[in-house]
Amino acid sequence: MAGYLSESDFVMVEEGFSTRDLLKELTLGASQATTDEVAAFFVADLGAIVRKHFCFLKCLPRVRPFYAVKCNSSPGVLKVLAQLGLGFSCANKAEMELVQHIGIPASKIICANPCKQIAQIKYAAKHGIQLLSFDNEMELAKVVKSHPSAKMVLCIATDDSHSLSRLSLKFGVSLKSCRHLLENAKKNHAEVVGVSFHIGSGCPDPQAYAQSIADARLVFEMGTELGHKMHVLDLGGGFPGTEGAKVRFEEIASMINSALDLYFPEGCGVDIFAELGRYYVTSAFTVAVSIIAKKEVLLDQPGREEENGSTSKTIVYHLDEGVYGIFNSVLFDNICPTPILQKKPSTEQPLYSSSLWGPAVDGCDCVAEGLWLPQLHVGDWLVFDNMGAYTVGMVSPFGETQACHITYAMSRVAWEALRRQPMAAEQEDDVEGVCKPLSCGWEITDTLCVGPVFTPASIM
Ligand code: PLP
Repeated sequence: MAGYLSESDFVMVEEGFSTRDLLKELTLGASQATTDEVAAFFVADLGAIVRKHFCFLKCLPRVRPFYAVKCNSSPGVLKVLAQLGLGFSCANKAEMELVQHIGIPASKIICANPCKQIAQIKYAAKHGIQLLSFDNEMELAKVVKSHPSAKMVLCIATDDSHSLSRLSLKFGVSLKSCRHLLENAKKNHAEVVGVSFHIGSGCPDPQAYAQSIADARLVFEMGTELGHKMHVLDLGGGFPGTEGAKVRFEEIASMINSALDLYFPEGCGVDIFAELGRYYVTSAFTVAVSIIAKKEVLLDQPGREEENGSTSKTIVYHLDEGVYGIFNSVLFDNICPTPILQKKPSTEQPLYSSSLWGPAVDGCDCVAEGLWLPQLHVGDWLVFDNMGAYTVGMVSPFGETQACHITYAMSRVAWEALRRQPMAAEQEDDVEGVCKPLSCGWEITDTLCVGPVFTPASIM
């Protein structure tokens, strides 16, 4: 078995542990530290990622999972997914370098950005990365020139108008323009091998996958008619990362399976991929963030007239992280993070209208408003669940290294299950291999770190 992940990469814990218990210990340690400097830190349950993977293979047995590196490129995540045998979907040179650095073979990497810098295309050519996506003539010309042996995947637009975060505004060609692009590719001796799409993130309607699979079938027929050997279908990402999502993963999987049976039936010779980001990592990460400043604001203060609550004041807390850092989902996904308190307040303790703000010196760095919290203090820690997607990594969405420390943990049961599964060794060099369903003897149950979420705030 390929050794991407070893026991020294994480804290081994017993099954039934909670990331919150671990965080409690760590925040206690941090509170006792002699320095005045505080920094948010994460606990990541790698076992939750293993569990998600087994669930994926069970629900979508015909689909080969690739991981979208941009979502969270922290070393523990990449290593556990590599160990599970996933392929990697990279958006740029830094991501390709990163996964190659941990030993992922070029045959398991897709360069899934349809609009790339020439330097990125050249990097892919030099390092043997063959699968590249495109959605326009100019990109085709760039790839023909800089990577003539590339296998091109045509990215088609989807109807993502109901998705929380849309991608087809920026990427994907309309069905009407596909024939022209495929003809152009043929004329320029570019090899088009398949079709990809992305329905956007937070899509409330699983029918969007079925519609895009039907569209992809049409493009396969066009391509085949023009002499392209079409054999790759890439379903993209957009799969939910939390249990509480509007549409459950199982529901989406069932819709996809039916559409695949109809348009790409078993034995049709097409390799089916997906490029999952948030699905794998969201619920695995919990973060602790410290209160660094606090002030009470009277509600009759100018500019506060609209807050007409039953109390006469509101409390403004400043945190060491904000929307330009790990809470960027507030800006991009419309998420309202709910803090979990470490100390359970007594029933007599009054609750106050409260808001949480990041450290930036501007008025946009608001993490959450309209919360009702007990009186908190500078130095208290707030904990947030479901913080694994688009928050951390060497190649963060902001293009720089995030400073937050991550403690990786995994239960012994999950580790044993991971070591027993055969994928990593068997599919090492085979990007087009098909996943086999697993029988690991480790029950697939709910995620490890679920817990009650109370309004206005949860209690650890
Ligand atoms: N694939 C591509 C091409 C993407 O752009 C993204 C995210 O933007 C993903 C996959 C992962 O999406 P998600 O995190 O919603 O699964």
